Amino acid sequence: MRPPEELRSDFPALSQAAHGHPLAYLDNAATTQKPRAVLDAVRSFYEKDYANVHRGLYDLSVRATEAFESSRRRVADFLEAASPEEIIFTRGTTEAINLLASSAGRSLLQHGDGVLLTEMEHHANLVPWQMLRSLGIRLHFLPVDDEQGTIDWNRVEEIAKKHRIRLLAFTHVSNSLGKVNPAAEICARARSLGLLSLVDAAQSAGHQHLSVREIGCDFLAFSGHKMCAPTGIGVLYGRQELLDLLPPYQTGGEMIAEVRLDQSSWKSPPHRFEAGTPNIGGAIGLRAAIDYLQTVGLDAVEKHTASLASYAASGLASIPGIRILGPRNHRAGIVSFVLDKVHAHDLVAFLDQEGLALRAGDHCNQPLLRKFGLAATARASFYLYNLREEVDRLIEAVEKTRRYFAG
Ligand SMILES: *Cc1c(COP(=O)(O)O)cnc(C)c1O
Repeated sequence: MRPPEELRSDFPALSQAAHGHPLAYLDNAATTQKPRAVLDAVRSFYEKDYANVHRGLYDLSVRATEAFESSRRRVADFLEAASPEEIIFTRGTTEAINLLASSAGRSLLQHGDGVLLTEMEHHANLVPWQMLRSLGIRLHFLPVDDEQGTIDWNRVEEIAKKHRIRLLAFTHVSNSLGKVNPAAEICARARSLGLLSLVDAAQSAGHQHLSVREIGCDFLAFSGHKMCAPTGIGVLYGRQELLDLLPPYQTGGEMIAEVRLDQSSWKSPPHRFEAGTPNIGGAIGLRAAIDYLQTVGLDAVEKHTASLASYAASGLASIPGIRILGPRNHRAGIVSFVLDKVHAHDLVAFLDQEGLALRAGDHCNQPLLRKFGLAATARASFYLYNLREEVDRLIEAVEKTRRYFAG
């Protein structure tokens, strides 16, 4: 990998100051900054090739359609999907999971079926499934045993047998704990029990090598904005034979084969699931982000962010009164922590004064934090452009905040 000091210069937003300090952007689990290659690709598309897609018969629209569909092919190739038809463009992970839950609730899942989730799911992989309760679909949960994020995946079998589970949906990487779940093993287990699987890859896409072929999942969702692409674009991957069984989620233009006043028929996937004018510019930006990340090297990105996180976790651990969540070993690029007697919001407000941008809150993980007796944590999350020196600044600033509050 090119050194992070050098990669930083690809990201215009990172060269700004914050409260008189160089900005240390440590909120990458919420969203990542954008490299010039992505900004340029989007701009160039709007300047040269922009028109609506799948409709026009004139050259410009043909070019826009080709650019949009080539982005789909690029995503398919990135995920090692069997074909571009398995790639549905969405607004992001949230919309992808809502799409799946809503459509599966009317097709793949029957009254009395169960959906198995974990206690560490982001609200985006929890609430859409709760909405299916009115259809008689029941939710079950794999417990998270400790603050390290330990889940006993052996329990899947017993729960599946007892409760007629049909689908297992889990996060690849926990956005609050930095726990990495063994996706391929889990999906193999699901398959052997006859369960469908959904992987929430919002924290792993663009952060490590990610292959649906290797993972062996039925569905996978991610957001472009957490991997250098613009906001408003994301993906639901689904195995072709399953997508064929799903009814539309939204309806309108672009997704229909034939419309009569009293009834209509649908296009085949993926277009069936892309009603209305899609985020064409976003898809172009996503393709540029994938190109950028693959040039940097995803294995190197994974190693770099994990090394920063373990460096941060061990450095922070020496501060009196700190409680660090997440696994001791094999942590993704995320460190959540709380400081005794200092509210997480106060802590990050102090860190902000030092030019450090961190998130404080429940990280859309309320049930999990509640289980640990917490309402909020501070969270540092790293990406390819973060530096060890920023981690040093973080540790120093947390210690300074502690001393301030200790009086
Ligand atoms: C961010 C995140 C989501 C939601 O992604 P959006 O881009 O907000 O739709 C879902 N799951 C996890 C694990 C996340 O980190």
